[in-house]
Amino acid sequence: MNRVILAINAGSSSIKFQAFATEGVVGAGDNLERRVSGLLEGIGSQPRLLIKDGAGATLRNDNLSQAAAPSVEAGEGIVGDWLQSDDAARLIGGPIGAIGHRVVHGGADFSAAAQIDDAVLARITALTHLAPLHQPKNLAPILAWRQRRPDLPQIACFDTAFHRGHAEVAERFAIPEALYLEGVRRYGFHGISYEFIAEKLTEVAPAIARGRVIVAHLGNGCSLCAMQDGRSVDSTMSFTALDGIPMGTRPGAIDPGVVLYLMREKGMDAAALEKFLYHQCGLKGMSGISNDVRVLEASTEPQARLALDHFVYRIAKEIGALAAVLQGIDALVFTAGIGENGADLRARIVAASSWLGLSLDADANAARRTDLSKSATGPRVLMIPTDEELMIARHTRRVLAL
Ligand code: ADP
Repeated sequence: MNRVILAINAGSSSIKFQAFATEGVVGAGDNLERRVSGLLEGIGSQPRLLIKDGAGATLRNDNLSQAAAPSVEAGEGIVGDWLQSDDAARLIGGPIGAIGHRVVHGGADFSAAAQIDDAVLARITALTHLAPLHQPKNLAPILAWRQRRPDLPQIACFDTAFHRGHAEVAERFAIPEALYLEGVRRYGFHGISYEFIAEKLTEVAPAIARGRVIVAHLGNGCSLCAMQDGRSVDSTMSFTALDGIPMGTRPGAIDPGVVLYLMREKGMDAAALEKFLYHQCGLKGMSGISNDVRVLEASTEPQARLALDHFVYRIAKEIGALAAVLQGIDALVFTAGIGENGADLRARIVAASSWLGLSLDADANAARRTDLSKSATGPRVLMIPTDEELMIARHTRRVLAL
């Protein structure tokens, strides 16, 4: 029977949701048919509900009052009500058979998506201290749908799961083992996106999919993943989503001595440091202007230029580090908001990494083609749009064998 899988991706100020019909066969290339995609963004500030049909036509674009969605939990109610409306039923065109959720932290235990029962829910909840800003937002729709539709199977898809196979040398910090054993280790995030790219590569570039690939997921959060034969070997994010390359509002890797300095000299406590490191650094903090690459590119302020220069410098530096891990690379893949749309930054990152044999075709780059490489030989430069919701739906289907 054709059943519908809902994929829900609840973030710190937005909830993305999509509905897929279960057509086709299970496997890497399985084609789920997208019926609806929705976004409730600006939660807590200027909420806006955007709903599109499977072809991408906008069906609703409603500005809501701030009071309507002051929190992700309240926003979840709005999304849940809509998904149970006649409007939604008409568009989705079949009974909802299962729900897949993005869950940021799966800790050391979850190396694959898991069906949520009481025990799994307790384990996910217990991991909240490892991702205090994100895990509660991910849990909100899980808890709400358990109340709303206890009959529906729900699947948790973890951003850490794709990275669980890292070698111990890569997974360790140089700290006493007792801390490693209690969970202080390099996990890695954006795994749902990286897994989607790994699967997509088997379709668009099968030879490369088996090789050494660095994927640059450059969105609001940014990280790099080194993959070998479709599996994650290392990643720039680690214990939390603060590590690695700079991001819109996060600094990336920073000397821990800076944190000690802020505590001693500025009197910052954990809450103040958390706010500073997650929201006031990165491109926004450095430029003093914006976290949005488009705004910085349009600015003539020297600080905007410096922030972008630093962004490119740090990414190229980490590409070099991951190339050392992989002992060379067969492809660099760009994905997510900046990676997919920022043609100028792509060109600059590739230029800064040309020592690896990477080259960019300016026309292909401007036209947003998949293969952006100039040279017919040597490592490839690719641009592949990510699709985390589709990956969540695939996992949900595979776990339940729908
Ligand atoms: P999220 O991590 O929330 O899913 P996205 O992957 O959508 O975020 O990425 C959002 C980022 O994409 C924005 O902060 C913006 O800087 C960047 N972006 C969007 N369009 C462009 C563009 N045309 N050029 C450069 N950057 C862009």
